[in-house]
Amino acid sequence: MRCSDVKDTIFALSTPVGGAISILRASGSECYPVLKAIFSGRISPRMLNYGRIHTVSAPVRELDNAMAVYFPAPNSYTGEDMFELNLHGSYAVAREITELLENLGLRLADPGEFTKRAFLNGKMDLVQADAVMDLINSDTDRSADAALDQLNGGLSGRIAAIEDKLISAASELAAAMDYPDEMEDEALSDSEAVLGACVSELEKLISSGKRGRILREGAKVVIIGRPNAGKSSLMNALTGTNRAIVTDIAGTTRDTIEEKLDIAGCPVRLIDTAGIRESSDAVEIIGIERARHEAETAELVIKVFDGTESLSGCEIDELGSDGINTLYAVNKCDENIEKVRKELLKYVPEERLLVISCETGEGLERLTERIAESISARESCGAIVTNERHVRCLVRAKRELEDALAAPTTDLRALALGSALEALGEITGRTASEEVIDGIFSRFCVGK
Ligand code: GDP
Repeated sequence: MRCSDVKDTIFALSTPVGGAISILRASGSECYPVLKAIFSGRISPRMLNYGRIHTVSAPVRELDNAMAVYFPAPNSYTGEDMFELNLHGSYAVAREITELLENLGLRLADPGEFTKRAFLNGKMDLVQADAVMDLINSDTDRSADAALDQLNGGLSGRIAAIEDKLISAASELAAAMDYPDEMEDEALSDSEAVLGACVSELEKLISSGKRGRILREGAKVVIIGRPNAGKSSLMNALTGTNRAIVTDIAGTTRDTIEEKLDIAGCPVRLIDTAGIRESSDAVEIIGIERARHEAETAELVIKVFDGTESLSGCEIDELGSDGINTLYAVNKCDENIEKVRKELLKYVPEERLLVISCETGEGLERLTERIAESISARESCGAIVTNERHVRCLVRAKRELEDALAAPTTDLRALALGSALEALGEITGRTASEEVIDGIFSRFCVGK
């Protein structure tokens, strides 16, 4: 267990001021005497105590009626003495109590400083600290579930299991190094199976990181089709019927528009592209190229067709190169679209063809269901790793282990194994540098 080298007592408002209630929390050795000095009620540990907050020097002034909880160390979030005050959410109260606490020697906390202290006091590892912020930032049910699993130690446990195996392999290699050649050969072959198993476990975690990226950034769903097919109308219809999380994310250029949606608990980045058609206009060609690139890197492509317009030769040619992640939406079914639908069925499977009308809303519910199904299929194994930093360390650890497996001597193998352990330790914080730790906590909000 690490020991915190920070001695001062910090405080911060953990909720935005302006609501009905503001929560102020403090952590450090001065918590109890300060709470006793400013709070008139009883202070029963771990109980919600009602009382008045007041100034300490004459003339004593009451500042608020509040609820206070005192958490004696070490059974608190940070592992230090802590208190939390439920105050009325007024700016005046927040300002006066902030001033009062500062005058009593408490310091306003830096972003993430409470969680940093929890980490330094061995209350959680870095995976869990990362998960705290991922949970706060999660927009959808599934992102929140994945973060909560990590907060509860899901990923930490799997990494610890790999570390245990590697540590015992490393100590066997170290023991063999002191003995003659035959022992070395035996140790090399003995460690092979263990290292191989760890490499495949790391591979599983790394590939789960790809699914995790979807939970973090949203599955990329790209709408393509020729101009006037109804792409923008579809974008509007889908964002209208599904909760838009963040609207109007600026497109990287004027030719793509992106919105983030919640579809069946999954975050989705819906991208409307420039119409694809043969063009000689330079600006339009750039837009079309971008549309194609977006489609190539998408989790799902929705190809929209104008059901009232015959398919062009170029549209038919392109059908052959579509991936299995393409859905075909024949739009404008409020008019006669049968000819286009039948023509398309010659080239695409019926189960991926949907008939819709952005005007009347017909078929949009089914389309939303199909989007949800396609994205869930990619996530069916559950995302254990969702954090980019964790994926980078896992990739490094795997590379070191592969080097270890290829190493011709015990000492070279032991060396690479040590580097793999170091990469894994960076995930949990066992071997993370101060720079890495500071980087993690700097993205936190104040009061967490
Ligand atoms: P985009 O160029 O592919 O983005 O197409 P738009 O969404 O701008 O639509 C092109 C035209 O088709 C507009 O005049 C829309 O009003 C019309 N439109 C879009 N969806 C439908 C539909 O479901 N039915 C009918 N009848 N017209 C539609």
